Amino acid sequence: MLVNIHTHYNRADSIEIVNCSEKFDFTVYYSFGIHPWDSETIVLKISEIENKTQDKFMLAIGEIGLDKVKGPALEIQQSCFIDQVLIAEKINRPVIIHCVKAWNEIKTIKKEIQPKQTWIFHGFSKVAILDSVLQEGLMVSIGAGIMNNTKLQEALLRIPNDQLFLETDDSEITILEIYQKVSTLKNLSLSELEEIIENNFKRIFRI
Ligand SMILES: [Zn+2]
Repeated sequence: MLVNIHTHYNRADSIEIVNCSEKFDFTVYYSFGIHPWDSETIVLKISEIENKTQDKFMLAIGEIGLDKVKGPALEIQQSCFIDQVLIAEKINRPVIIHCVKAWNEIKTIKKEIQPKQTWIFHGFSKVAILDSVLQEGLMVSIGAGIMNNTKLQEALLRIPNDQLFLETDDSEITILEIYQKVSTLKNLSLSELEEIIENNFKRIFRI
């Protein structure tokens, strides 16, 4: 079975975690959280996240994080991010991280909080920070960038199998196309790759 760890569309072509930032009820797995671009609306929504503790379809808090290119001032984003990772600790959910040019800040927060929950770096493409991200124990989720980014294609081989996830995010590409590309690059059969990712999914989400 294919696993799509982060998507904005419910395509039902895999086990998928559909990202949701508005309040509505899903009957597929989803992540729920305040995107850093929306950090200023935090007061309204933070209680909604806590209310979802009992929802078995809500697999993760996300996408949340820091973005130095877009969104409100960094301090606002930081406080919104910290509030949500603390909730993730409280309600035992992994976190899906959106990080743009802010890895040092995210790493600092992680060192302060020492989370027990797994953090998943979604849409990973910045090869220069890969070793640090792996060392911090994050799962690395690879998306459409793998199709054409040759540096990312090379770096993929340095990601241990047990730290790898795959995703489509908001791209039009199918999760199958990403699996096919990654299996070719890693010299694995499609079914071998499926097993690796599915095992990661079961381990991290205790499913
Ligand atoms: Zn996304």
